[in-house]
Amino acid sequence: MNALLWVAIAAGALALGLVLGARWGTRQAEGAPAPVEDLPGPPVADLLQRVFRSSDEGLAVLNRSGDVVLHNERAEELGVVRAGRPDARAAAAGQQVLQAGTTIAVDLSPLDHRGRQPAAVLAHVRPLGDGFSMVEADDTSEAVRLEATRRDFVANVSHELKTPVGAVGLLAEAVLDAADDPEEVRRFGTKILNEATRLGNLVTELIALSRLTGAERLPELCTVDVDEVIREALARCKLSAESAGIEIIVDAPSGLEVDGDRTLLVTALSNLVENAIAYSPAEASVSVSRRRAGDWVEIAVTDRGIGIAPEHQKRVFERFFRVDPARSRATGGTGLGLAIVKHVLANHGGEVRLWSSPGTGSTFTMRLPVSTVSDDEAGDEPDGAVRRTADLPDRVG
Ligand code: ADP
Repeated sequence: MNALLWVAIAAGALALGLVLGARWGTRQAEGAPAPVEDLPGPPVADLLQRVFRSSDEGLAVLNRSGDVVLHNERAEELGVVRAGRPDARAAAAGQQVLQAGTTIAVDLSPLDHRGRQPAAVLAHVRPLGDGFSMVEADDTSEAVRLEATRRDFVANVSHELKTPVGAVGLLAEAVLDAADDPEEVRRFGTKILNEATRLGNLVTELIALSRLTGAERLPELCTVDVDEVIREALARCKLSAESAGIEIIVDAPSGLEVDGDRTLLVTALSNLVENAIAYSPAEASVSVSRRRAGDWVEIAVTDRGIGIAPEHQKRVFERFFRVDPARSRATGGTGLGLAIVKHVLANHGGEVRLWSSPGTGSTFTMRLPVSTVSDDEAGDEPDGAVRRTADLPDRVG
């Protein structure tokens, strides 16, 4: 809260006190007993105390000697005041503002962070006049965490871009050196093409991710046919499946519907199927199944591939996290596929679940709320395995 607001509250409270006091005084003078609702409110000092105590900010007033003369509970929670003593940095800032006469910002983050105390605390210390200063502290942990995430993200993006750009440069030099050898030129040319494709994919996925994280809620939801989403996603993955010799087994159409953005859902499902293909041995099979489970529609992608160790299962949804960076790079992965899946599902009010066992395989399940329209029409459709003809296992092993 800034000083102006404090002044406004104080002035308001003062005015209220004066008005009520004056009315009360008049009534007293007239000898009429004041009705209860007209009785003067609490004294201004009391009102100010209440405002002070209930503030979300940690507030502490220090005197010229650096002693705490007034503080609220929040100031203790934020570690600004401990056992009646101010944080040494706050006390020093108090002295400083008395001399300078201006407000300063001071970092009061705990030096040894533990317990309930927030990780980051930022305070503004301002002079109050007459040798008093006021510390106004806020919990800034979330802002600091977001800033760290942003910095990491920028560093990761730069690194991810640098690798293929560097490779293209080196390969171009190799092409120039091998100008007289058509075989070599073709070999390096193919590699340049691969790196350019990787760059293109990375940029496309970065744009998709930034759009998804920018708008947490989807602007307009349409009724989407789940069978069409599956058909389209599988069509996109056909080439990769064929070149890896992987058979995709798919269950029968269900007629299920969800409310959402069809393109995004196709992207999410294709990412899961592409991964299932990329992290499976050649000639393995991948299954895609759909079903209704209560108020949810579930689309499961099951592979019999390398699986994911329990300690990595949460992390695979983080941007740029890869269990095996070399393998991901070799398969042309950007490290963003599952982050996109997670955001698409979150934007649809759904979630993605993972079951996996190293050496056995993985099942990624997209869970979406069933369409409100189709839910009304479905009437008393029984839960689970709705019109599902192929009985595919949801989990491997
Ligand atoms: P990438 O482009 O690297 O595949 P993703 O975000 O799609 O990025 O996946 C992150 C990581 O999760 C992958 O690098 C891989 O280690 C792991 N992973 C994803 N899907 C599977 C799967 N079906 N089987 C095994 N590991 C997987």
